[in-house]
Order: sequence, then C-alpha cells, then structure tokens
Amino acid sequence: MGKYWNEEIECMDREQMKALQSERLVKQVRHVWDNVPYYREKMKEKGVTPDDIKGIEDLHKLPFLSKADLRDSYPYGLLAKPLSECVRIHSTSGTTGKRVVAFYTQNDVDMWEDCCARAITAVGGTKEDVCQVCYGYGLFTGGLGLHGGSHKAGCLTLPMSSGSTERQIQFMMDLQSTILCCTPSYAAYIGETIHKMGYTPDDLKLKAGIFGAEPWTEEMRKQIEESLGIKAYDIYGLTELSGPGVAFECECQNGMHINEDNFIAEIIDPDTGEVLPEGSKGELVFTSITKEAFPMIRYRTRDICVLSREKCGCGRTLVKMAKPMGRSDDMLIIRGVNVFPSQIETVLMKMSNASPNYQIEVGRENNTDTFVIKVELTDGMFNDTIRSIEELERKISQDMLSVLGIKAKIKLVEPNSIPRSEGKAVRVIDTRKLID
Ligand code: ADP
Ligand code: ZN
Repeated sequence: MGKYWNEEIECMDREQMKALQSERLVKQVRHVWDNVPYYREKMKEKGVTPDDIKGIEDLHKLPFLSKADLRDSYPYGLLAKPLSECVRIHSTSGTTGKRVVAFYTQNDVDMWEDCCARAITAVGGTKEDVCQVCYGYGLFTGGLGLHGGSHKAGCLTLPMSSGSTERQIQFMMDLQSTILCCTPSYAAYIGETIHKMGYTPDDLKLKAGIFGAEPWTEEMRKQIEESLGIKAYDIYGLTELSGPGVAFECECQNGMHINEDNFIAEIIDPDTGEVLPEGSKGELVFTSITKEAFPMIRYRTRDICVLSREKCGCGRTLVKMAKPMGRSDDMLIIRGVNVFPSQIETVLMKMSNASPNYQIEVGRENNTDTFVIKVELTDGMFNDTIRSIEELERKISQDMLSVLGIKAKIKLVEPNSIPRSEGKAVRVIDTRKLID
C-alpha cells in the first residue's frame, strides 16, 4: 500500500478536479430541489433554480445554509432520501446549543469511511498497524468515523471509545497500538497518565496520532508529540458534513487537505457573506456534493480559517485549510476585545513546564466583565516558593496582556484540580449569558 489511499483523487490535476466538482454540484443541486422543499423555498427566495447552476462558478448564486436552518428543520426537514434508504443517524455534540441530527445512506457511510481511510493512510497507516480509536463511540461521529476508516484501511482496529484511561494505556501496551485516534485534549491526558503510571514513550509502540474535533495549537502538538513519542496529526470534520475526515493532515503537518471530490470549500466574510479570495481569513463554508441523505449546500460552519493552494510536499493537490482558530461563536468578547481561547493556549504552552490544563472564566461584576484564567501548576512548579509562584503569575499576566490586549487575572491552581476531558475539552465558562 502506498502513501495515498486514492492517488487518482488525492493528486488529481486542478482542472480535472474542477470538472468533477462541477458535474457533482449540478447533480446535487437538482437532487435537493427535487427532494427537499426547505431547499427549494430557500432557492426560490434567492431567485435561483437548478438551471442557473452549470458548474462551480455558479456556486455563489446559491443561498447559504446555517445552523439555525438545521435547527428549524429538525429532525427530518432537510432529509433528501426516504428514511427507508437511510442506515445511520449521528448527532452533533451540542457544543454550541441544541443538537442537530444527520442522516446517512449506505453510500454516505462509505464515502465518509473512505475519507477517514485517506487520513489514516496519510499518517502511514497500513494493514500492519494497530489503530486504537478512543474518540467516543455512539451518536458522536468521532468514534464510528475513524473506526470505519481504520477498518477500510485494513488496520487492526481497537474500538476503545473514550474513558477508562488506565485501561486504555494497558491495552495500548499489551496490544502494541501504533496509531492513536482521539481528541487532542484526551491525547494530552493519556500522555499525562502514562507518565504518572511510571511509563515512558519507550514502553509504547505508538508512532502516530490523529487528533481533532476541537481546536488545538501548534504548541499543544509539540507537547503531545513529546509526551507520547509520536507524530501528531490534525483531522477536521463536522457532523453536518458526515464527521471527521472532511480534511486531514499529511506528513508535512502544516494544514489539512480537504477531500474536494466530496466537499467544495469557500471562505466568506462572516459579516457580509461575500466570498473572499484565496489566502484570506474568514468563515469556512462547505457544499457536500456527494452526500445523498443529508446534503449541505453552502453550509456556514462558523469556523474561522484560511485556505491555501500552495503546492504541498506530499504530492496531494487537494486544497489545504489551516488549523481553524476556533469558531466565530467561540470568540469571546471581553471588555470589548475579541479573544480566542486558542490565543490563550498559545501563550500558556510557550512556558517551560507548561501544563495543558487551563480554564477561562468570564463573568460580570458592576457592569464590567471579569476575566480569570485558571492555570494548573505542574507537580514541579507546585513545590516552588510562594514568591516564585507569584512571579510566574505576573509573568503569565504580562504575556497575556501583550497578546490579547486586555488584562486577565491569572489564578494558578493545584495540580489535577481542573477536570480532564475524555472528549471535547470545556475551556470556557462564561456566566454572563449575554448570548443564548
Ligand atoms: P458540535 O458543533 O456540537 O461541536 P461536532 O461534533 O460536529 O458538533 O463538531 C464539529 C466542530 O468541531 C467543527 O465545526 C469545529 O468547530 C470543531 N472541530 C472539528 N475538528 C477540528 C479541528 N481539527 N480543529 C479545530 N476545530 C475542530
Ligand atoms: Zn500534503
């Protein structure tokens, strides 16, 4: 097996890919017009019919679809195939409100698993590998998505799901897992637990990890790579578009290739909806051109990111997306200043002895926002004198001020006092309740 799962698609010439996308888009638009009254109404409102869509150059004529549309049409309103042809349902993890559900035909499941098999192959996975999947199994797409991809790629699959961390580690050693799939925050926790149990990366056979489902920084990547003795790769996806595997990282580790034969990506200005030129930072919008049961046309992800068509060292021609900075709705506005949790993580992880465990607390007192960053001390730091701890607080506070542009109160807390996550980490506790 080579380094590509599907070389023809992954390295396809640009013009050929555009032609493939155009052909699939035209068909998909016809499919939703014929089968989903909700889409038909939205298109009529915008004065566009399937006849206006002749190729990807016409994509911008179509209306956007938002999470609100998904909630409005819950559960069956966007279904484009009879339920009797659907074989699976998944649901979002509900990070930002009411969950949405997505439906899959057998072809949809095959396409999704194929995308995940590409991701596993890109990090060196073959049938010689043991792939330990510790994303949650169930309605959440992480577990079953990577599980299916691992099967497809021929890896020996360990369907662990999340939790029972010591048992995970025992199996990892006994069964010589080589690839680990979970959220980056859980990977950091597994690394921490391995060291606590008295093991080192040399006791493991792990070589690569596929970590996604939440934002994580380059600094976090370095820390996980060191603590587990592996290469850590990013993977991106969302339930609405099937799940993980919409985009995956290659050996170059500098951005994720989007599976463009299935998903057309655009970057828009989140305020005006205008399509931005390549290289601009904006909101990522996807059109799924092969999904049958639950097609998404110009779906606004709210993820803020940049696309690049620069040639990649791996030989793939698929467009790359940078690590999303977080969602537009993850962005905190504190005393009028925009703050992304990822900026805070970058500052913290740059410190020597950094702990990947932190929590941001935002509240309101006397009509002013309060902003506290709780940072967990590592065991080493905990034994330091009060004076050196105070100095550390001051130092973090200064660094935060220079990066964020506002002052945060830094609270250093005891080792192990911030709850660990086995899935998506809860980094922000905002008690202001200004937005629902
Ligand atoms: P929910 O919206 O409830 O969290 P999902 O589980 O479908 O539901 O999560 C999809 C979202 O997770 C994406 O829109 C994105 O914000 C985030 N996400 C997924 N993968 C990554 C990644 N590799 N980096 C950053 N964010 C990611
Ligand atoms: Zn590449």
